[in-house]
Amino acid sequence: MPELPEVETVRRGLNQMTLNQTIQGGVVLLDRTIAHPDRPTDFLTGIQGTTLVEWHRRGKYLLAELVRDNQAAGWLGVHLRMTGQLLWGTQDAPVQKHCRVRFFFADNQELRFVDQRTFGQIWWVPPEQTPEQVITTLASLGPEPFSPEFSVPYFRGWLRDRQRPIKNALLDQTLVAGIGNIYADESLFLSKINPQTHCASLKPKQIQLLHAAIIQVLQDSIGEGGTTFSDFRDIKGINGNYGNVAWVYDREGQPCQTCGAPIARVKLAGRSAHFCPDCQPVGGKGKGKRGKGKGERGSLDGFVDCSVGAIGNFCL
Ligand SMILES: [Zn+2]
Repeated sequence: MPELPEVETVRRGLNQMTLNQTIQGGVVLLDRTIAHPDRPTDFLTGIQGTTLVEWHRRGKYLLAELVRDNQAAGWLGVHLRMTGQLLWGTQDAPVQKHCRVRFFFADNQELRFVDQRTFGQIWWVPPEQTPEQVITTLASLGPEPFSPEFSVPYFRGWLRDRQRPIKNALLDQTLVAGIGNIYADESLFLSKINPQTHCASLKPKQIQLLHAAIIQVLQDSIGEGGTTFSDFRDIKGINGNYGNVAWVYDREGQPCQTCGAPIARVKLAGRSAHFCPDCQPVGGKGKGKRGKGKGERGSLDGFVDCSVGAIGNFCL
C-alpha cells in the first residue's frame, strides 16, 4: 500500500509531467472510482477545460489546484488506496485492463488512473467548496511529519494518556499523516521500541528517538528525484524491493541485520508488526548493537526503483 514517500514521489512526478497542462476531456471507466460529484458526468464537466496549477500532498491524498480562464476551478483529489497508480503516456497506447479513469491532454498525451483492487478514489471539489468540505477525512488528518506542528512536545502530549500499542498509534492518521505499516515497523526498529509497548509507558527519551526515526525513515525513502515510478504498480514489487533494504518489515524469520536474531511478527489490531525481539524487547533496553556489519547502512535509500517504462510507454 502506498505510504507517504510513495505518494510524495508520485506528486513530484505529476508536477513534472502535468503542470500547466489543460484537461481537454476524460472518460470514467468505473463509476465508483469517482467519489464526488455523485454523477461521473458532473465530474467530467467539472474538470474539462481546467488547467493543473500545482499538485499538493496532504497525508496520502494528492490534490491538484485547477484554474479555468484564470479563475479558480476547484480541486482534483486522488487517493491511491491499495493499488491505485497514476500513469502518464500517450492516448494511442493500449488501455490497461484495470484502467478506471482517463484524462486527455494536448499532443496526444494522457494521464490514466489504473487500480486493480478498485479502492482508489478521485474527487472533483467545486470552487465554491474547500477540499476539507468534500473530502471530509482531510479535516481529521494529523500534522504532516515534516511540518513544525509535528514536534516532540506534540508527539509526547498525544501519546501521554493512550494505552494502546505504539504500533497502532503510528497507523492512526490523526496522530501524524501518511505513515503506514512499513514505515511504522521501520521507525520502531530504528528507535529500539517494541511495537506492543503502550503509548503511555514510553519514556521521554524513547519518544524523542521515535520522532527522529519517523522523520529519518520517511525522508530517506522519498529519495532523490522520483520522476518515474515503475515497480510501484506492483504490490509484490514494493515488498520485493523494500525487502532488500528493510530492517524488519516483511522479514519474519530472517536474521536481524544488527544482531542476527530472527525477526518476529505479531498481529496488532489486525495488522502485522515486524520487530527484532532482541533489539526491541518488551520494556526497552535492546541488546542489539546497531552500526555493526550490515547494519551500518543508516538509511532506507533505494526503496523506490525509479526505472522507466515498465508499462509500455506509461510511466510515472
Ligand atoms: Zn536485532
